[in-house]
Amino acid sequence: MNQKFYEKLAEILPEERIKTEEPMQMHTTFRVGGPADYFLMPQTPQEVQKVVSLCKEEGMPFYVIGNGSNLLVSDQGYRGVILQLYRNMSRIQVEGTVIRAQAGALLSAIAARAYENHLTGFEFAAGIPGTIGGATVMNAGAYGGEMKDVLLRVMVLTPEGELLSIEKEEMELGYRTSVISKKGYITLEAEIGLSPGKQEEIKARMDDLRIRRTTKQPLEYPSAGSTFKRPEGYFAGKLIQDCGLAGYQVGGAQVSEKHCGFVINKEHATAADIDALMRQVSAKVKEQFGVTLEPEVKRLGVF
Ligand code: FAD
Repeated sequence: MNQKFYEKLAEILPEERIKTEEPMQMHTTFRVGGPADYFLMPQTPQEVQKVVSLCKEEGMPFYVIGNGSNLLVSDQGYRGVILQLYRNMSRIQVEGTVIRAQAGALLSAIAARAYENHLTGFEFAAGIPGTIGGATVMNAGAYGGEMKDVLLRVMVLTPEGELLSIEKEEMELGYRTSVISKKGYITLEAEIGLSPGKQEEIKARMDDLRIRRTTKQPLEYPSAGSTFKRPEGYFAGKLIQDCGLAGYQVGGAQVSEKHCGFVINKEHATAADIDALMRQVSAKVKEQFGVTLEPEVKRLGVF
């Protein structure tokens, strides 16, 4: 640990919100990942801003995470600063039909607040286990809904250190992409526009989607959801299944037998197992069908 750098961090955040050598397997839904040198839990946009500017001054790499539900962190961990926005930056406010949420608010928590306030439009996101910050980055979506349908604007920190409000129209929201990742922005807050609805209908929709997820997806194992993006004109899971890869295993990582689009941590997988399995699956699909599978899951660290 670099004591001088730690002391500078401690001028920004109280020490109970600064951890060192923090195992990333505790903070990813794959339940893999080695230690992060520094693991910070900021509570305000100003704390994020100050940490980022310190990292830049000191030439220290940094990376923002939400709930780690779309993330594969290397077994060697991360040499730099992780800023975890989930938990500590997760305030949700409702004003009429608009919900304002800090980046670390879970989608499920926002969906619950929408329901309590008789607001419809967010049901599709209730079962996605990420934060609203992570969801803005990749325009998370499910069952015909996507963030693009409900976002009004986001507040971001730019790479130049400025706070900026971006309207939905400027966010370039597409399939698993947005301006946030392209420009290296950090989402700090999002505003969501919903419509008045009936609670029993909102609940029925959420219940229906929950049942569909639990019956089709291997939620009983750690994973990061769909491992690959949907290639145009195909479904990744179907291609993988048609290659005969259901249940195929590398170390403790497995192509789920329940849903081939999911790589799961079946039994004490390492990040290297998961990475190797993903590469083998992609190679096999390319060889058999000539289709390139692009990972949806983000890799962090050295592979
Ligand atoms: P993380 O995994 O923490 O981060 C993902 C990426 O976003 C990283 O590159 C990170 O740097 C970046 N990031 C995170 N927060 C911010 C921020 N505030 N500002 C800038 N960058 C940020 N996804 C879907 O779209 N639809 C689904 O139906 C779906 N189902 C899933 C089911 C399961 C069982 C699991 C485990 C995952 C599923 N996912 C799904 C994937 C995942 O939940 C989403 O991609 C989610 O949006 C990721 O949010 P997160 O907070 O966990 O992001």
